[in-house]
Amino acid sequence: MKALRSLEIKKIKLLLILMFSVGYSCLIFSKAFASPPPCKPWQILVKQHHVNEHNRDLTTHVNAYNKDSYCRAKFHNSDFWGPKLFLKKSEWKKHELLTVLELLASLPSYLEIEINSFRRQSKSEIDKNPASSNLSDKSITLYDLFFNEKLTPQKLILAHELGHFLFIKLSPDEQQEFVVAAGWRLGNLNLATRKIELIRPAKLLKEDSALEPEEDFANHLEIYYSNPLLIKKHNTNAYNFFIKRFLK
Ligand SMILES: [Zn+2]
Repeated sequence: MKALRSLEIKKIKLLLILMFSVGYSCLIFSKAFASPPPCKPWQILVKQHHVNEHNRDLTTHVNAYNKDSYCRAKFHNSDFWGPKLFLKKSEWKKHELLTVLELLASLPSYLEIEINSFRRQSKSEIDKNPASSNLSDKSITLYDLFFNEKLTPQKLILAHELGHFLFIKLSPDEQQEFVVAAGWRLGNLNLATRKIELIRPAKLLKEDSALEPEEDFANHLEIYYSNPLLIKKHNTNAYNFFIKRFLK
């Protein structure tokens, strides 16, 4: 009888240990799955919090609830730009990435253009150049000068670079419309290249606008973005071209 009782006590003990260990592992398991997903470097974690009952709009009433932790984009649009910026983060300092992300987030939606990657190099081959674009591999490279630039605001430099990509996104008809509006004229046929040469506008927006219509477009876009009235003063036709398509 005594032996039977001690056997029963052993059984109960074993059962209690089993119940405790199963319960504990369930707790760990549920905690692991209740934790928020790890946030990306361009996101921030919003911790679990209580939401009071409220009216979402005139017709929708929302009862109070506990909202789980979640990851939110650090800046407007950073879910769009972040993956492209953080792609090659070894070349970057983290604060530089966040600066660029913040700047990109402040740009208008017409400059949300698919760019494969943003690169970081110390110096451009061209003197005093803060940034450059490579249309063939769809990349933008930013140099030390971009981060030390005092004269041109950084977001205008970015708007300019993205302007190059925006130009090649335009249809041939739209490109031609810009070229005419900006004051470019048809010249003679170049027998070597078999192309009709373009004569640059008499009044240039910037000195390097003379290089080609694409550079001229990027310059126009940069100034249109910063101060549209300057474009209007410079050339009403070009202003009308931009205002028709790219509203902030
Ligand atoms: Zn340019």
